[in-house]
Amino acid sequence: MIATKAYAAQTPTSDLTPWNFHRREVGDHDVQFDILYCGVCHSDLHQIRNDWREGIFPMVPGHEIVGKVVKVGTAVKKFKAGELAGVGCMVDSCRTCDNCKKGLEQYCTNAGVYTYNSRAKDGTPTYGGYSSTIVVHEDFVLHISEKLPLPAVATLLCAGITTYSPLRHWKVGKGHKLAVLGLGGLGHMGVKFGVAFGAEVTVLSTSKSKEADAKKLGAHKFVVTTDNAQVRGVNGYFDFILDTVSAKHDINMYLGMLKTDGTHICVGLPSEATPIAPFSIVDGRKSLAGSSIGGIAETQEMLDYCAAHNIVSDIEIIDMKNITAAYARMIKGDVRYRFVIDMKSL
Ligand code: NAP
Ligand code: ZN
Ligand code: ZN
Repeated sequence: MIATKAYAAQTPTSDLTPWNFHRREVGDHDVQFDILYCGVCHSDLHQIRNDWREGIFPMVPGHEIVGKVVKVGTAVKKFKAGELAGVGCMVDSCRTCDNCKKGLEQYCTNAGVYTYNSRAKDGTPTYGGYSSTIVVHEDFVLHISEKLPLPAVATLLCAGITTYSPLRHWKVGKGHKLAVLGLGGLGHMGVKFGVAFGAEVTVLSTSKSKEADAKKLGAHKFVVTTDNAQVRGVNGYFDFILDTVSAKHDINMYLGMLKTDGTHICVGLPSEATPIAPFSIVDGRKSLAGSSIGGIAETQEMLDYCAAHNIVSDIEIIDMKNITAAYARMIKGDVRYRFVIDMKSL
């Protein structure tokens, strides 16, 4: 067994504190890499607080993980010691269901295994990237380009793929008016991809103070969603809204901003349900849709796209011991635009 240092939540009401555990030995098909950086996703906070469901504790969050390979199993073909490697939100799936066969492992109908707060096929809990090292089947390990700054690439493994995948699925690009709702970790990547794909991008935000940043990220317009006049100004305007908001919000108001046949795509996952009035979608034949991360092949495609087009996240590097303060800022919507933990500080 491999001794591993980590930060864990012991209960849904406690702060993260140092905790040691053991990872499995490197199997024939496994890659072990030492973690250099791990992004901080709002999902980490939702899960340690049991926002979505009863979690598995102790919980080691973190699913935006990059590092350097230290050991590979005898059957591993894709990786060698010394190379960069990454892991996102998934570490295994059934490989046999229709979705897995189509490269949609995130929608595995049998036994998808998430990077943490989940159980491996043998029933043992999985532990995430706020830790010193990780062992993952090579099929779920991604190649990371040496070209881009590593801490700013870590965040692509969740925030990147979660915004890239729906924009590709709905073929958002030239001629489309895209709104990105919520300018946080996911939102700022949604802006970057929307702009790169050729759409006209508007940021819909509760934080007026983020307007200059939105423009620097490439957004063409900025709408403060608490300003009724500004909201009225974009009534019936957008083809797509990419909704990254982490807390309860009135989706009916945003559906009013869509054109006929427009689509509101939820990627944000507030814990509380929100009522939808049928009138909000019936009038204008609108669609309310959702999307979860992306498959492994698409995640690699996104990483390669980012390397080719010099796309990374805007980040603030933090020490592991400051994670509680980072979460507090995240709850206030004050993330510019992704915290990344330097794992040397563990
Ligand atoms: P984040 O960095 O905290 O960003 C969320 C943004 O939402 C905030 O910056 C804020 O933007 C806005 N917001 C927060 N509270 C709000 C409220 N009460 N009303 C309106 N807007 C509000 O979070 P993140 O890491 O990007 O994650 C966003 C959500 O996506 C989380 O729920 C997370 O769990 C989920 N997620 C889903 C997937 C998936 O596969 N579907 C993957 C990763 C994360 P403004 O200041 O601009 O208003
Ligand atoms: Zn995430
Ligand atoms: Zn499957």
